[in-house]
Parts: sequence; C-alpha cells; structure tokens
Amino acid sequence: MCSKPFPCAECGGIPAQTTGRAIYPHRPDLFHKFFYLCGCGAYVGCHPGTEDPLGRPAHAELRKARGQVHKVLDRIWMSAPNQYERGGKLTPQQLRSMARKRTYRFLADRMKLTEDECHTAMFDIEQCREGASIMSLRMTFRGAAMTTKSTGPTPFTRNPQSAPPKSLR
Ligand SMILES: [Zn+2]
Repeated sequence: MCSKPFPCAECGGIPAQTTGRAIYPHRPDLFHKFFYLCGCGAYVGCHPGTEDPLGRPAHAELRKARGQVHKVLDRIWMSAPNQYERGGKLTPQQLRSMARKRTYRFLADRMKLTEDECHTAMFDIEQCREGASIMSLRMTFRGAAMTTKSTGPTPFTRNPQSAPPKSLR
C-alpha cells in the first residue's frame, strides 16, 4: 500500500512508484528501496523502510541544492549538545531533537510555510535559495559573516559574544 505521492517539483506531474532497480540499475543494494519517478525523469526516495515518499521528485540540480540546504540545517541542530554544559537529565539526543524542531520551525516561519511543507525534500530551487539565504542571514546575525558553505556559529550558541568559532580562527 503506497501513500499518495507528492507532485513533481520540476513539472508538476504525478510520479509513479518504482524501485531502486529502475533508478539505480548498477546498485543492487538499492533494488529493494522504493522511489517515485516522474515522466520527466525527476525522482525522489522514500522514508527508510517505507513506501512513503520523502517529498517531491527532483532532477539532479535540485537534489544537489536540497542536499546543501539540508547540510546547513543538520549542522545547526546536530551541534546543539555542544552548546550546553554537561549534566542534567536531558540526553544529547533529546537536546538534538529539541534543536531540530526549533530550527525547522524557525525556517518555516521565515519562509511562510507550514511545518509539513518545511522539509528540503519538498523544496523547489527557489525555496532552496531562500532557505540557504535565511539560514546564512541568521548565522550572520549572530556575529560572524559567512556563507552557507562554511562551518560556523549556530542559532544555539551559548555565548554569542565570545570568541569566533573554531572554523574562523
Ligand atoms: Zn516531473
């Protein structure tokens, strides 16, 4: 039983379910995975172990852009436990989970999207640009000029007035 696919981010078409055998014929390790393939050649994967699409099918350029935005977002919430003193009852996983929610809520608010829409796998190329720009501005606002490609401070910096991040030293 497959869930309803999201329309293609490239052409608006409705993709059909397929498997890794069709998408990556040279990767037998992916044959068991499900994908949604549009008539225009765009595709998207599924949540691990499910037939539920991650988002809207995309061509290579958009998949790459989404990956870049995703990386910026990951860097922010994944580093959250480093921003706190050790101790207390919250585990690093809980701190990351809280930070992840905040990061995506922040982005959804700025992009005027619902939380369901605010996933990089749903983005088109313009939204990738917008998302990258917003996260970059957010980081710049915290005191360090940078691009989305560099590593650096996050919105969860414990003491934003302190020394610049390691990456800028
Ligand atoms: Zn398409």
